[in-house]
Amino acid sequence: MISFAGVGKSFGDNHVLRDLDVTVAPGEKVSIIGPSGSGKTTILRLLMTLESPDTGLVEVDGEPLWDCREGARTDLKKQAEVRRKIGMVFQHFNLFPHMTVLDNVTLSPVRVLGMGREEAGQRAVDLLQLVGLEKHMSHKPGQLSGGQQQRVAIARALAMRPKVMLFDEVTSALDPELIGEVLAVIRDLAHTTAMTMLLVTHEMRFAEEISDRVLMFDSGSVIESGPPAQILQHPQHERTRRFLKAVL
Ligand code: ATP
Repeated sequence: MISFAGVGKSFGDNHVLRDLDVTVAPGEKVSIIGPSGSGKTTILRLLMTLESPDTGLVEVDGEPLWDCREGARTDLKKQAEVRRKIGMVFQHFNLFPHMTVLDNVTLSPVRVLGMGREEAGQRAVDLLQLVGLEKHMSHKPGQLSGGQQQRVAIARALAMRPKVMLFDEVTSALDPELIGEVLAVIRDLAHTTAMTMLLVTHEMRFAEEISDRVLMFDSGSVIESGPPAQILQHPQHERTRRFLKAVL
């Protein structure tokens, strides 16, 4: 479903990803952990086409999103198609502040997918129900708590019917007492949907609960990968042990 093969990315002299090979199976829920600056967010941004790789091949559903192999070229038309299969929830919710919650959730399905307003509206109500916010649909984001805004952001991403959902440290901008409500929504999604999910998280217990697999990143490579209980409780790599000791 998602594959990175020989992917490299540098910002100037900073080699953020080094010959990265990662495969995520259809429907798999994968958490990415690792120290700050190790390239975790960068791989999500490559999938969203917010960054481009320097080398390698990135495929989604067997179709190329980026083809930066020697002599190859990315097909931008195909890229736009593939990109639509992917939704992302960011650390900062990035909602449109001047629009209501309902309009935030209906905007892209109408504009990008060409869905009728009525259908998009009905679907938005269903999704807002799913994240427990149907009572707030005529509010503006600024009238909601951070946890509520993040749940709207999740509903907004789901409204595009993605096959793949990316979550980038979605609780790290929240007050501690608001984290649980956001994690609960993601936990439900992980347990009830067939979507492929890729999550960058510092919430180790949460990663353990919802993931099929955990990837430990360091200096732009995956240094250890396996079932959460194995990586989080019996890490093999010294770097993973040191990292977990510092964060747990
Ligand atoms: P964190 O846990 O702190 O979010 P991360 O593992 O997600 O870290 P990335 O955000 O992927 O790390 O960043 C990896 C490195 O790339 C960092 O050194 C960062 O400063 C650098 N970087 C990321 N984006 C850019 C950019 N647009 N321009 C220059 N450097 C960048």
